Amino acid sequence: MEIQSWWLLALPFFFGLGWIAARIDIKHLLSESRALPRSYFKGLNFLMNEQPDKAIEAFVDVIKVEPQTIELHFALGSLFRRRGEITRAIRMHQSLLERDDLDESQKRYTLFEIAQDYLKAGLLDRAEESFVKLEGTEYAEASLRFLLEIYEQEKDWLKAVETARQLAKVTGQSYQKEIAHFYCELASHEMMNSKTSDAKVHLEDALSVHRRCVRSNVLLGDLEANLGNHDEAIAAWKRIESQSPDHLSLVSSKMLDAYEKLGRFEEGLTLIKGYLSTYPSVELLNVVFDAELKANGVESAYHMVRDELRKHPSLLGLDRLLEAQLMEAPLERRKDLELIKNLVHQHAQNLSQYRCENCGFNARQFYWHCPACGGWETFPPRQSEERK
Ligand SMILES: [Zn+2]
Repeated sequence: MEIQSWWLLALPFFFGLGWIAARIDIKHLLSESRALPRSYFKGLNFLMNEQPDKAIEAFVDVIKVEPQTIELHFALGSLFRRRGEITRAIRMHQSLLERDDLDESQKRYTLFEIAQDYLKAGLLDRAEESFVKLEGTEYAEASLRFLLEIYEQEKDWLKAVETARQLAKVTGQSYQKEIAHFYCELASHEMMNSKTSDAKVHLEDALSVHRRCVRSNVLLGDLEANLGNHDEAIAAWKRIESQSPDHLSLVSSKMLDAYEKLGRFEEGLTLIKGYLSTYPSVELLNVVFDAELKANGVESAYHMVRDELRKHPSLLGLDRLLEAQLMEAPLERRKDLELIKNLVHQHAQNLSQYRCENCGFNARQFYWHCPACGGWETFPPRQSEERK
């Protein structure tokens, strides 16, 4: 009985406390909202209705009245950049950097923002300079990613290697594949300038970073073949089988040329035919067909492609089969065959495209570095027809 009456007294007391607390909160909110200009809410409203242009206008009005609102400057700066108004974004961030009422963390944030403005504006030197300054800050990791993008754009591969190494350390992720490609880029550059020994060093570096780097063996083979060392070239290309057999199609034609130069074309053809039976692909079929045609004539090429087509039906195989048939067809059948062949050929060509696994970009040629999304080794060495 005693406990119940005590509660009866205590309840209104706590209720009263809650009421006072709520009133204080509401009063605080009201005073804050009264302090904010109407344009601020207009701007917010536009933003929520996805009308960033009108939002920008409204926020610019707020800044005119309340120039001390730093956070709003930040928001506007990034809005400008997103809208592609880079000059306005840069001006906004520059004026912030010139202010002396920014604390250290706000200064770092502004630097990070202006660096992105410069990058978007294509002012790579200035972007690089700003991102480098952010080393050791909370923006270090993001800055390193942007720096890597910059060095890739500038084709400054040594700096790209260094940055990727730092990124691997910071993030704990592997950048082996990318680093190996940067060394391959360096090697390609040296090869173009006939600096063979420098190129070789880069290719060895690539393989030591990433043992499965197919591209280094492709390039090493090219390098040896250019020097006339066809045996060494073949040896380098053969190593691709243990790395990624699918990529053999990229070098099979070059391998045959090297064997031919050594006077051992038949040996080369037997090797590539062996690849075709172990790792069937339309690319290898194409190479074998041309080689067979050249070495042993239409009849032999026809039988080869027919057998292959039975095992692995493909449009490109059919295209080559019709090609062989057309060569031997009597004059009266030739017109009909040609009509069918052209149709099949056109369709096979449309399907024969490499496709980036990262962004879906289609290309007639094979790329190690996707021109659309910038991914490294995102193109499988097989064309669309087979993947489907
Ligand atoms: Zn891509």
